[in-house]
This record gives sequence, C-alpha cells and structure tokens, in this order.
Amino acid sequence: MAATHFRCPRCRRMLEKGAAAFVLGSVGYAPKAEDPLPPSVTCPGCGFAIDTADMIAGRLDEKADWLSPLAVVLGLAAAFVSFYGFRRSGIAAVGIGFGVTFAIVGAADVAERLWASLKARR
Ligand SMILES: [Zn+2]
Repeated sequence: MAATHFRCPRCRRMLEKGAAAFVLGSVGYAPKAEDPLPPSVTCPGCGFAIDTADMIAGRLDEKADWLSPLAVVLGLAAAFVSFYGFRRSGIAAVGIGFGVTFAIVGAADVAERLWASLKARR
C-alpha cells in the first residue's frame, strides 16, 4: 500500500501527496519523461525541488507508515481488553483505546525527532 504522505528529503517536512500521485504510486506506476507531470514539486518549507518520480515511487514515503495501523490495532485491542477483561464502561474503554493509539504514535514521533537531531549533530 502506498503512503499518503512523504517527507522532503532536505528539511524532513511532512507533505501530502496529490491524489494523482497517490493513485499512480498505489498501482506501482513509474512516470516517464514524456508524461505531462512536472519533473519536480517545490517543498513549501524550504523550496527544495523534490523529484516527482521519487515521490510517486514511494522512495520518500514516511518510513514509520506501518506504525499508524499498528497503533490503531493495539488501541482497539486495549479498548477490547478493558471493556471485556476489566469491565470498564464503553466510554472508558474507547478512551483507553484512543490513549494507547496516540501514546504509540506520539512516542514514535518523539523517537524519530530525537533520532533526526542526533543524526544532524554528527
Ligand atoms: Zn523541504
């Protein structure tokens, strides 16, 4: 599955793919020189010319993209366990589920920022 977001290779800003780029990437399409696509897209953060073919092919995709579905699954599991296992009310179970999901996504985001800043210092 193609990711809906990619990162600017220079400033690491997260950018959303256009609908066409997402669809083309999903079917594994590799753009050719004669295609009426712009050769690059300009990053709104730093002005870097991002290669359109790289972006469509998913070479710039968000690396942690597998994490979001995992976080949602674990959140649902936590909600299920707290509802049936610990006899929480439905609202509390849903709250716990959301809490687990956002804790995982947030922790991954912090870890990635730390890792990026460590790499930048070297
Ligand atoms: Zn940028």
